[in-house]
Amino acid sequence: MRVRDDRCIGCKRCFPYCPMGRIQILRRHEKIPGRVYIEIDQDKCTDCGMCYRAKVCPVNALYQPAEPWPREVRAVLSNPLIEYKGSQVPGRGTEEMKTNDVTGRFRPGEVGVGIELGRPGVGAYFRDVEIVAKMLAPLGYEFAEENPVTQFMSDRKMGKLRDDVLNERAVSAIIEGKCKLESLPKVLEAIKKAAEKVDTVFSVEIISKVPPEGEVPIIPILKKLGYWYSINSKNNVGLGEPQFKFYDNQG
Ligand code: SF4
Ligand code: SF4
Repeated sequence: MRVRDDRCIGCKRCFPYCPMGRIQILRRHEKIPGRVYIEIDQDKCTDCGMCYRAKVCPVNALYQPAEPWPREVRAVLSNPLIEYKGSQVPGRGTEEMKTNDVTGRFRPGEVGVGIELGRPGVGAYFRDVEIVAKMLAPLGYEFAEENPVTQFMSDRKMGKLRDDVLNERAVSAIIEGKCKLESLPKVLEAIKKAAEKVDTVFSVEIISKVPPEGEVPIIPILKKLGYWYSINSKNNVGLGEPQFKFYDNQG
């Protein structure tokens, strides 16, 4: 996000809308006596567009230029209104991980594991995203094809991201994928080790279908390993068309 310094009057109305707290610098205008204007920390700004979309600027001083690659990835992951051409997924994650498993991605014996880096209020560089992805890749973790982070990888088997995006950042970035249920303890252990290496915060979500007998298969594993967890459940009828027959009575 940029500021037209000949328009900005330094009123600070846009300040509280920045989730990264990066609209902070007031400068004296060299050509307009008595005028101050703001500067945005371009390294830390994620191009999320919140300050602009809040429509609080009285002089229309904020604007978002079309950024070239690789800076383009900041808005792709941070501005929910922008869709990445490669994945055609607006925002950071796919429908299957965020809301409904519309395609039946998570099969019996598999669990979805998502790692959301950067939220709340910290942001994440892709070099940190890569640290986590590289620790998951050798464990049979399968990165979700349509996810934007996967699209930025140069080697999916290794969890390696393209070198030119490593110093870019986003409000948050979600690594999405799945693994075998029996691999879950190792995957969680790897995520725990990655936490010591990354310079940001993250949360982990684990997705599992509930079988007809009703017991959620991941709960005994989490209990045994001593992880804190919070259960969220979704019961949807008539949404999507899973490409897999999960239960015998499924039409
Ligand atoms: S685009 Fe987002 S991160 Fe950048 S200054 Fe505006 S609110 Fe802050
Ligand atoms: S709201 Fe507009 S005029 Fe006020 S500080 Fe922000 S950019 Fe400048």
